[in-house]
Amino acid sequence: MRHYQVIIIGGGPAGAACAWRLIQDGIDCLILDKQSFPRPKTCAGWITPRVLRDLDFSPSEYPYDLTSFQRIYINGFPILRPGKQYAIRRVEFDNWLLERSGAPVIQHHVKEISKSEKGYMVDGEYSAEYLIGAGGTHCPVYHTFFSNDQPRTGAQIVALEEEFSTEWKDGGCRLWFFENRFPGYAWYVPKAGGYLNIGVGGNALLLKQQGRSIQDHWDYLVQKLQDLGLVSQKEFQPEGCVYYLRGKQDPTQVGNAILIGDAAGLATLDMGEGIGPAVRSGLLAAESILGISEYSLAAIPKCSLIPKIFQWAVNYSKI
Ligand SMILES: Cc1cc2nc3c(=O)[nH]c(=O)nc-3n(C[C@H](O)[C@H](O)[C@H](O)COP(=O)(O)OP(=O)(O)OC[C@H]3O[C@@H](n4cnc5c(N)ncnc54)[C@H](O)[C@@H]3O)c2cc1C
Repeated sequence: MRHYQVIIIGGGPAGAACAWRLIQDGIDCLILDKQSFPRPKTCAGWITPRVLRDLDFSPSEYPYDLTSFQRIYINGFPILRPGKQYAIRRVEFDNWLLERSGAPVIQHHVKEISKSEKGYMVDGEYSAEYLIGAGGTHCPVYHTFFSNDQPRTGAQIVALEEEFSTEWKDGGCRLWFFENRFPGYAWYVPKAGGYLNIGVGGNALLLKQQGRSIQDHWDYLVQKLQDLGLVSQKEFQPEGCVYYLRGKQDPTQVGNAILIGDAAGLATLDMGEGIGPAVRSGLLAAESILGISEYSLAAIPKCSLIPKIFQWAVNYSKI
């Protein structure tokens, strides 16, 4: 059996960012992921400039198409000077981050984790002093060490989404909040390279209380996009997914087991943006292992859009 200093379960943005930082300081770490990369991931792929800064790359260094939105509409209203906002395709971005991390990756579906003399044992095959839970919503590290004592406290989001190749004609990114009494928002995100991502994501509990399903809102979105001429007739096969927004108390660390990204439920309260928080929590976890700082999520913002809306309002007032 091979012993590592750190085993990271999950090779998404959280796990890859953590490994990238650890490898820079020569830490012997291993990533286990149940899927073979490149793998698809349900996600609109909107990333903020902060993600690029945190991962220390410029747009020109990204080897795939990086969409830069020129126009953004919220509930039909154009946002003036929205600042740089980007979109990537997850199948490309996640694979690139993982390779760039320099960490060894083994395809392995983690089922059983236990404590051992040297730290942690994973499925009786791998052992490590530190264990990073980066396995997303259903992370086995969360279920083994956190779900009883430090459960996620944020709202559960249910989403339906589809990304497909199409020659979109309108490159403006569109978001619709709370339309049709939807406790969430719908999106239309055209991407460079001829891809379009459309979807709906909302609060699962509120939807249930309304007696409506996410499918109702998906159907509403498709009809709206067709009426606006933004998509032509097509058979859609959206994929569903659940994840958690930031709660009142973040599950963070039990002994040397640390949760990052969706495993900790870190998506922002207003937009459900999870890539940025996943990357930052991964870097913070690495820095705690390196002894640079205690692991805390306090510095990761809980909202994405609300500070920007304030800035956009200031821009309007100057016109
Ligand atoms: C429809 C939808 C749209 C979204 N849009 C956006 C957006 O536009 N912008 C944004 O910032 N965020 C968005 N998000 C949120 C974002 O996708 C997540 O927050 C982000 O992927 C979290 O990254 P992560 O690394 O924590 O987890 P993930 O990306 O989910 O990676 C977890 C990895 O763990 C692996 N794994 C899981 N279980 C095991 C196991 N037992 N053994 C081994 N490996 C395992 C999985 O295979 C996976 O590769 C969206 C989410 C959804 C559902």
